[in-house]
Amino acid sequence: MLAELKGLNEECGLFGIWGHPDAAQITYYGLHSLQHRGQEAAGMVLAKDGKLTGMKGEGLVTEVFTAEKMKNLSGNAAIGHVRYTTAGGGGYENVQPFLFNFQNEAMALAHNGNIVNANQLKAQLEAQGSIFHSTSDTEVLAHLIRKGGFSDLKSRVTNGLSSLKGAYAFLIMTETEMLVALDPNGLRPLSLGILGGAYVIASETCAFDIVGAEFVRDIEPGELLIINDEGMTSERFVMSSQRAMCTMEYIYFSRPDSNISGINVHTARKNLGKQLAVEKLIEADVVTGVPDSGNSVAIGYAEASGIPYEMGLIKNRYVGRTFIQPSQSLREQGVRMKLSAVRGVVDGKRVVMVDDSIVRGTTCKRIVTMLKEAGAREVHVLISSPPIKNPCFYGIDTSSREELIASENSVEEIREIIGADSLTFLSVEGMVEAIGRPFEGENRGQCLACFTGNYPTEIYTNEQSTTIIS
Ligand code: 5GP
Ligand code: SF4
Ligand code: MG
Repeated sequence: MLAELKGLNEECGLFGIWGHPDAAQITYYGLHSLQHRGQEAAGMVLAKDGKLTGMKGEGLVTEVFTAEKMKNLSGNAAIGHVRYTTAGGGGYENVQPFLFNFQNEAMALAHNGNIVNANQLKAQLEAQGSIFHSTSDTEVLAHLIRKGGFSDLKSRVTNGLSSLKGAYAFLIMTETEMLVALDPNGLRPLSLGILGGAYVIASETCAFDIVGAEFVRDIEPGELLIINDEGMTSERFVMSSQRAMCTMEYIYFSRPDSNISGINVHTARKNLGKQLAVEKLIEADVVTGVPDSGNSVAIGYAEASGIPYEMGLIKNRYVGRTFIQPSQSLREQGVRMKLSAVRGVVDGKRVVMVDDSIVRGTTCKRIVTMLKEAGAREVHVLISSPPIKNPCFYGIDTSSREELIASENSVEEIREIIGADSLTFLSVEGMVEAIGRPFEGENRGQCLACFTGNYPTEIYTNEQSTTIIS
């Protein structure tokens, strides 16, 4: 059951805007800038003349929202979503935003993250007569909101959120207002901007730059924003909150031009590279990064070590991320489609190859082989994160424990498997220091669970809701 849920709602991107006549177009550009957060499906719901209308589909933003279709889309407010899924969780009914037309109200909902007690809540709701339309954990909140015995939407949302455990950034829209909520650990990034008189919400700040919006601030953990034509109000829906920002957002997931809690992602990655040079100096001729996230790290390592940075690997822009391909064999084929080694750069050289993380080890092994086939004399692999030994329950696809190469193998064994001349992972302390996320203040912490096994929330492993770590 957990596997089923985990596959559903991973690594998504959210964009919302309230109070702009070009809401549809702006949301299109916003979603496009967040495309790296999910390439499987996209959708938006628009509010216009007191009505909600939605459009969604499977594929990239440009595939779902063709020029022809965009002509018919307009509104003063919108929420949008880009979605990533692993095998089993696809299907049109799971594409967001969800749009519910009830007898007395309409409501749209979009979610980034993963609700860890969704199965338990779903079972309770079904026992009380709720009928689910999707297999997504996100729909649970819609039912909780409907069930709430309070009249106004804000109270019903607050009440619904109080039952949820895990990671969530929610955008909720009705004909008259937009609600924005972030879980009490603030596991996923979510920011507020303004564009003229309009409020803009996005998973990453890069979306603000693309649409010309001005960054205002990050949404706080446990915060609920209510935005309508009168303006914006902010509330807390939990008594206590403790930020545990996903470290993988810095390491791998976010775009280099985004800032998370005021820290630029490219700069953080470059510092991770410098820290790698502090922890491991290698005698080599060139440093090359595995695009895209490894490039910034490689630049930092080259700067600190004095070994020249070169483009030893080139990415084919027009192939989606390797992880999207569900089966192992497809994934292996995908790497070749996606990356090429530059023979002229690596032939006869001792190469330092820098990447952000090792999950299953498959991609890494293929790239090492590729570099050697292109003539590299030695390939030294540097990874800008510690070994990923524990699964993520919060919406990043680090797969089940058995699939994680570092959960079963030592660093030396992994080196052997991937065929590298040496392999170095960054230390947890080094990583935290390099990213520079200040720990002072209750809202500054970060999640390290996939490295340390120390989860910031309860996690539920089966239907009996056994809490194994809290
Ligand atoms: P592996 O070598 O373990 O097969 O794959 C690791 C590579 O996959 C890294 O280069 C990383 O950039 C990429 N990757 C793609 N999706 C994900 C993800 O969801 N989480 C992590 N940690 N890495 C991912
Ligand atoms: Fe991010 Fe790892 Fe925490 Fe998951 S477990 S939220 S990937 S830091
Ligand atoms: Mg990579």
